[in-house]
Amino acid sequence: MLNQKEQELIESIFYRLVAVRSDSNSFYEPIIEDIILNWFKQCDYFSKNLNYVGTHPLDEDRFQREVVWALVKGEGDETIVLINHHDAVDIEEYGKIKDLAFRPDELKEELKKKIKQKSILKDLNDDKWIFGRGTADMKAGVALQMGIMDKVSRMESFKGNLLFLSVPDEETISKGMLAAVTLMNDLKSKFGLNYILAVNSEPYFNHVKDKAIMYEGSVGKVMPIIYVKGVKSHIADPYGGVNPSLILARIQQKTEINPEMSDVYENDATPPPVWVNLKDRKKTYDASIPEAAVGYFNWLTFTKSPIEIIDKLKVLCSEAMDETLKHIESCYKVYCEMNHDEVEPFDYEPEILTFSHAYELACKKYGEEFINGYEEYLDETKDDYLDGKITLPEVAVRLIEYTGEQLRSGDPLIIIGISGPFYPHINNKLIEKGERYDLEKKVNEICSKYYNVKYQSNQYFMGLCDLSYCGFIGDLRDIETIKENSPGWDDVYKIPFDELDKLTMPVVNIGPWGKDLHEIAERVYKPDVFERVPTIIFDLIQEILS
Ligand SMILES: [Zn+2]
Repeated sequence: MLNQKEQELIESIFYRLVAVRSDSNSFYEPIIEDIILNWFKQCDYFSKNLNYVGTHPLDEDRFQREVVWALVKGEGDETIVLINHHDAVDIEEYGKIKDLAFRPDELKEELKKKIKQKSILKDLNDDKWIFGRGTADMKAGVALQMGIMDKVSRMESFKGNLLFLSVPDEETISKGMLAAVTLMNDLKSKFGLNYILAVNSEPYFNHVKDKAIMYEGSVGKVMPIIYVKGVKSHIADPYGGVNPSLILARIQQKTEINPEMSDVYENDATPPPVWVNLKDRKKTYDASIPEAAVGYFNWLTFTKSPIEIIDKLKVLCSEAMDETLKHIESCYKVYCEMNHDEVEPFDYEPEILTFSHAYELACKKYGEEFINGYEEYLDETKDDYLDGKITLPEVAVRLIEYTGEQLRSGDPLIIIGISGPFYPHINNKLIEKGERYDLEKKVNEICSKYYNVKYQSNQYFMGLCDLSYCGFIGDLRDIETIKENSPGWDDVYKIPFDELDKLTMPVVNIGPWGKDLHEIAERVYKPDVFERVPTIIFDLIQEILS
């Protein structure tokens, strides 16, 4: 159990980190990185062992962000990795009281005047809850892991090693953790480490007071992009064309919040897809049917592979295409009757392609000319992305669109692609000997010694987290499918699958109780942060390594 002094240390680190703004994907992140790094450097152990603390830069990063790492080197090679992220979502939600987002006490007083929901008000009047941006997600986790590092580094002898990794960009596309994968492999060979467990401390979600949740896995995410090319015509001749938006809307209708699309594993089901973007590709206003429409959505996974997802989408897209064309045709016939017009044949030959197929066809048709044009456009798009002018999915959208435009035909066309970020699902049950530590039992044994709290182990952390990159459950075909259908892959966005594969280790998330993350009422449960969670993790580490 942590003593008073150790708890106070975590408390002081926590408030210091909360006071520092660290919006994800911004120049604020390097500031907090410096603070964490310098904190380690002034610790007794690390000031004497400066080769055990350092930073690792992110690839081609316009904010020059870095992963901060520190290693307590004990006896032997067995190593537990503590993972956390130091970025937080922005503070727009706070509106006029933005300045208070980093000042928990003042914020609490202001929120008492502002908030009407009873459940939040109750916590506002409870000393045990700390409000503020990043409190739960996840400066609490960073602070308590730093406290554990300090405690372990002061021990006279320590069996095993403890590696601390604090990464940026988790709330954006996890560029930090992807860089950390390479770093972990570097440190592995440099110090002869053998990674046996990764511990993250993201907050858990719960409604019951004395029941806590730990997670032995993390949900995966694939982001399919659907590009639809229609047939252009003037709005006065609506049946002379096919509106791609209508087809896309039908695909959304079939997928959005459709529980049939949930991935089910044992007693859990993933939340069904939600489209995060959907629009036509018109650049100017005119009175014609748009030429193309594109949308992309989140598809969360427990076990489903990218191949299964693409196969399912091919079927859905084909159904949506047929249904839309039939709908247009039947409306057209009624309209012809109304106008006493002759019905002309309605004979489109629609196509449903994956991006890899579309790319292949374009190469076959136009050879070098297409390939060179595509490469040039890829460079241009990449520059726009690195300059922060466009988002990562927009890169893929543009390249799919470029390819689709080359495949000129008078028929409707759908191209199915994938955009990063891609989060592989991970779960101890799916890893070889992944359940060897019997974590739920161990955590409950530790917990029952000190607290009247029971831990429930859930299979998957549902909020997407960096544990996804502590290994890869999948095969070469999955990797190939992702790569060939994600334009810009390995160029604009990449996942070092080979290095991930080398890491694969059991994972667990044990963090504090948090509520309303990313919102104005974001808050964390104080007893968890300063006492309970660090005690449990510390004891767990000791037990596994001894
Ligand atoms: Zn988080």
